[in-house]
Amino acid sequence: MPRGQRAGIGRCGFIYGGMSLALWPVPLLGMVHAASAALIALGAFFVAGGWAWRFFQQGGRLRDALRMQLLLLLIPWALLTLTVLWRPNCDYLRGMLFFLLFPPGSVVLAVTLANALESAGVQHGRRWFALIGLGTCVLPVAYDLLLHPQLYTYNHVFGGILGPLYDEDLALRPGLLSFRALTLLWAFWFGLVACFHRTPRLLQAGWWPALWSITALLGTFYLLAVPLGMNTSTTGLAQVLSGRITRGSVTLHYDPRRMTQEEAMLRAYRAAYDYERLARRLGIARPDPVRIFVFGDPVQRAQLTGARYTSVALVWLASPQIHLLQGRFEQSIAHELAHVLVRKWGLPLLGFSPRIGLVEGLAVALEPPDGQPTPHEQAAVAGLLARNRTDSLTAQVAQLLNPWGFWTSRSAVAYTLTGSFVRYLLDRFGAAPLRRVYGGTSFQSAYGQPVDSLVREWVRFLRRIPYVDRATLAVVRERFHVPSLFERRCPHYVPPHERAYEAAQRMLEQGDTLQAEALLDEALRRNSAFIPALVRWTQLRLLRGDAASVRERLAGADTLQDRRLQLHLADALALMGKVEAARVLYRRLYLQWPSYDLNGRGGIVLRYAAVGRPGALLHVLRWLENPRERCKSPFEDVSWDQTLPPGWARTLRQAMQWWTLGCGEASASEILAGGRALVESLRQVGAFSAAACVQETTLWLTWLRNVFPEYRSVCCAYCSW
Ligand SMILES: [Zn+2]
Repeated sequence: MPRGQRAGIGRCGFIYGGMSLALWPVPLLGMVHAASAALIALGAFFVAGGWAWRFFQQGGRLRDALRMQLLLLLIPWALLTLTVLWRPNCDYLRGMLFFLLFPPGSVVLAVTLANALESAGVQHGRRWFALIGLGTCVLPVAYDLLLHPQLYTYNHVFGGILGPLYDEDLALRPGLLSFRALTLLWAFWFGLVACFHRTPRLLQAGWWPALWSITALLGTFYLLAVPLGMNTSTTGLAQVLSGRITRGSVTLHYDPRRMTQEEAMLRAYRAAYDYERLARRLGIARPDPVRIFVFGDPVQRAQLTGARYTSVALVWLASPQIHLLQGRFEQSIAHELAHVLVRKWGLPLLGFSPRIGLVEGLAVALEPPDGQPTPHEQAAVAGLLARNRTDSLTAQVAQLLNPWGFWTSRSAVAYTLTGSFVRYLLDRFGAAPLRRVYGGTSFQSAYGQPVDSLVREWVRFLRRIPYVDRATLAVVRERFHVPSLFERRCPHYVPPHERAYEAAQRMLEQGDTLQAEALLDEALRRNSAFIPALVRWTQLRLLRGDAASVRERLAGADTLQDRRLQLHLADALALMGKVEAARVLYRRLYLQWPSYDLNGRGGIVLRYAAVGRPGALLHVLRWLENPRERCKSPFEDVSWDQTLPPGWARTLRQAMQWWTLGCGEASASEILAGGRALVESLRQVGAFSAAACVQETTLWLTWLRNVFPEYRSVCCAYCSW
């Protein structure tokens, strides 16, 4: 190859070097993995294509161009691998797979496209190349995400986005492989076009059959996009989640193998109730119909949509959808419905606000009380903990309102602070001005004052909150210290012991305790101090009555920081007849237990009452585990409150009232009266968060009893606690 033809190759190398060095400082990008591979592929497409155009004009050959440009990819690969020296590249092998799938395909496509354009003698070929590249970056993404119920998008230029940001474990679907095969097929087609144009006119006819057959093959790929896994269709989802119930504006799709019709009905009612309630709160007269897809299994969901655990509202689809896992329904349905309700307030076509902080803030602000400290309480405590009290919260919220600030923040901090701020705006000024700022209008014109002064007012409001649950401090410390994706040491890497634990959870949801125990054993073999697996394992053993192995396992002192493990140790002691030791531990745990957790505290009292009778205690433990049993009494002979420490009997009474709220034949007015009495007694002891939750549940249960009178034991099949 003549020297002149190689000109510019050094510049390409420099660009790759610069790109890789720019990625170094960010932990998520400064390693060989999906995100960095996508960015390198994006750059590589334009670098390789731009260079190749000139190279072909000077008479260079396709084979040489491909070889040189593919070899250049060793630069970003080497520089990104180098970060191993100071950063754990936990998931290097999978990362390497992404690196092989993304940049080389893009380079081959870019070089062959440039070759085809040059051979065809297209005027301003380089400009056309850039235009085709940019169009391919944007249009298919819009086509995939705006027209299909999927959270992944594969791309000829940058490789693809595999799923939502918040999912730990990226979904590697077969569709990605078919898509990359399609990229290479396009490259082959461009190669043929180039050959066709270089052949003398008289001989060109010989190329037609090849061109036509490859064109037909390309067409076939696009026709089969759904079965090949390159796109997801709503029809396909509805086929897999074949159960279907419509209530009001809500249609629930569920997996009949995982959920009974009755449970599905209850969930459909719950969603319809929340939707109605939130629409009224926001002053929305006619909310859009919404389809809710409830997946039974994260693996199946990832294969279908690219998302695993994250609950999402696809507000940008022509008819909006919510996707979530069955196990997360109770905790996230109201949040996702709120996103759907305000879609008309947001940007046209996209359905969300340009101020991302408001999107999540509004949904958090409308979540029903769950018994935990409220966003206001948490924000107030976070403000107190900050070194520079006033400035810290104001600056943080101002930053959270823009997308970059929001996504790089710790998610618990971002969600809670914006949630508290929006709740304040909503309570103080109503929905009308919020609607305007959500659509992009300035705070000044919607509220008559700039955002800074609104934020300062909110901080002053937080300082005036008269009562904050004592346990809030612990909650804030725990939640606000979970690092963001950009701070994590190994983002998007799930180590083997966590994988085993997640598989065990899935088995438990399917009712296969034997398989679950084997998987938990495996998780603990790989990491014996992994608390979630220890909690589950000890719990399963206790329910089987095997107290000795639990006690033995928990003999190590360092694992006992966790209060659930301490509780399991106390249970094991009690089951083994070590009555005094168990009592001492129960008493200590009761004092430490968060005051908002009525369920947990009531559970401790029940255990304490049964401590001398191992048979009864085992019955209590099983009863506590099974919400379906809630309407039956945990004891046959009720003789418990004589031996309880002072104040415990009241907690137990409150817990029993809570557990049996709406049970059996209770009429709507009985539920209402029972709920009111419980709210009153909880408020008297300062348990405001629990009281708010009971109040909300009472309203829901009375609503349900009125619209669905034939359903009897409401509480047993549906209890979020
Ligand atoms: Zn959300």
